[in-house]
Amino acid sequence: MTALPDVSLEPIVYLNGEVVPLSEARVPVLDRGFIFGDGIYEVAPLYAHAGGRTAFRFEQHLARLSRSLEKIGIANPFNNAGWRALIERVVAANEAEADLAAGQDAIAYIQVTRGVAKRGHAFPAGIQPTVFVMVTPLHLPNAAQRAEGVRCVSAEDRRWLNCDIKSVSLLGNVLMAQYAAENGAFETIQFREGVLTEGSSSNVWVVKGGVLIAPPRSHKILEGIRYGLIEELSAECGIRLEVREIAEAEVRAADEIIISSATKEVLPVTQLDGQPVGAGKPGAVFAALYAAYQRAKATEAQGAQQQGAKNESGERITD
Ligand code: PMP
Repeated sequence: MTALPDVSLEPIVYLNGEVVPLSEARVPVLDRGFIFGDGIYEVAPLYAHAGGRTAFRFEQHLARLSRSLEKIGIANPFNNAGWRALIERVVAANEAEADLAAGQDAIAYIQVTRGVAKRGHAFPAGIQPTVFVMVTPLHLPNAAQRAEGVRCVSAEDRRWLNCDIKSVSLLGNVLMAQYAAENGAFETIQFREGVLTEGSSSNVWVVKGGVLIAPPRSHKILEGIRYGLIEELSAECGIRLEVREIAEAEVRAADEIIISSATKEVLPVTQLDGQPVGAGKPGAVFAALYAAYQRAKATEAQGAQQQGAKNESGERITD
């Protein structure tokens, strides 16, 4: 397949009720997102297929968005139907402007901050949240990265202890991503006092003796939408899953290490801190999960197409 051109240099975005080109979207400097990192975000894949684009596992993404908002005391500005309509509106605007080519997978980025107010740490009363939505092309890992796996480095997890909130205060994660970049690595795998947490922007999975092992859901990690998905996929593939604390030594002695995120799907890690992981090549559990992931995408796309066809015929009947 030839690579699709990345034409989305000037995405059309949504900001506080308006749909405008990105360069025209402006936020006041006293927005608490800018001043305090006081906000949350979501990133959901929109996979392209013959019938259009399907927001993959969107209910789960919206549920996490809602949880994040609740945890920081911001009222959800939309219900799920509202969020869906908003994403559709932004996608349609980008398609109309040809910023999103047909067949191009995309990513929906949603950000909600507490809003604009005179600077002061505690929540100000009576302000409106700032809502921003951006849809841009999704660049999944390439075939070589999946075939060979990626190199990772490790570091102590020094972030705050509310990692379950998908906060825009990402400095800890930014520093970890930069550490990987400076070391020619794809991702930094973090340990908190000798126990595996997660990557700078991914969840981490370990395989030993055919068993898939995951760190428990807790305030120490962000529960990826792929976390629940991989639980389902492993069951479907007959792979035993153990959810428990994983010691650093176990990670270093793993047969396989797998990372997961919206933009990476599942990806094998074949080198950690310069040492080969297991046999130094992607393993059978990764292969099974990757195949199952692609099937899950196809199934959701099919469901969406059928739903679309139903809606169309419904409209015709109403006419
Ligand atoms: N942990 C962190 C810190 C992340 O930033 C991400 C990416 N959103 C994940 C885990 C994986 O989450 P998801 O599967 O929803 O992309």
